[in-house]
Amino acid sequence: LIRFGVISDLHYADHDPHPNFEKTYLRHYRRSLQFLQNAVKAWELDKVGFVIDLGDVIDGKNVAIKQSLQAFEKILNVYKSLNVPDLHVVGNHELYNFSRSDLLKMNAFQCKHSCLNGFNNFDNSGFMYYCYEPHPSVKCIVLDMYEISLLGNDVNSPEYKQALGILSINPNQDLNSAFGLEGTDERFVKYNGGISKAQLQWLDVVLEDSEKKKQMVIMFGHCPLQSNYPMTLCWNYDEILAVMHQHKCVQAYCCGHAHEYYYTMDSKGIHHLTLPGVIKLPTEISSGHLTVDVYNDKL
Ligand SMILES: [Zn+2]
Repeated sequence: LIRFGVISDLHYADHDPHPNFEKTYLRHYRRSLQFLQNAVKAWELDKVGFVIDLGDVIDGKNVAIKQSLQAFEKILNVYKSLNVPDLHVVGNHELYNFSRSDLLKMNAFQCKHSCLNGFNNFDNSGFMYYCYEPHPSVKCIVLDMYEISLLGNDVNSPEYKQALGILSINPNQDLNSAFGLEGTDERFVKYNGGISKAQLQWLDVVLEDSEKKKQMVIMFGHCPLQSNYPMTLCWNYDEILAVMHQHKCVQAYCCGHAHEYYYTMDSKGIHHLTLPGVIKLPTEISSGHLTVDVYNDKL
């Protein structure tokens, strides 16, 4: 029915390589631009209908070198060189570089392409979740998993205050640490976030519409809903899964954030795929993207 390209966690910065937090590998920030350029060339040959990035296109390192805007524009320009719609998912690193209101002004995380009337907000009204129909039988849904977050939100906003309440379970001074939390509670750290009740209700309505239209739905977000790394899970992953499971149209959920490949099928038969982060790929590898073919009955 449709072919699309997907890539995750470029973490681009015009910055020398630097070890990750745990000092287990080197992050090659500049190399990510080349990976994206390679991906774009491959997607052109593959004749994809659209492409989507799963968040963290630029790294937080850009803040210290005052290159946030330059880095972001450089990456978006590579996407623009493709003559197909480019969809973007907001990640935590976008929110280290910019406030939510800055991002909304830049209009990078709203849907700009043949959207569905009534389901999207075209007028910068404050939403970074949207849906997109690349084919009459296929609906893509992009979630904003940092709507409730300490990142990017004004400290006086209800979303910031709600996030503080959610993180009160975390006993650490540094809320990026999951020390002392166990099992899926490890997700209650500052670099994750959650979706609002309004976004959950919107998801329910959009999925209801897809069921009526007998569409196949593919969902995207930055944080996993199922993972072997619980410290990367979306705060209210359970509520999102519950809404997805109330409908029979969702085929797959794709995300990034964990930087490690992970695949599982959940109890209702939905495929959950976490893409490896481009920033973590070993140097001997030169491509970090996927091309996905969507058929009537399979992906
Ligand atoms: Zn990342």
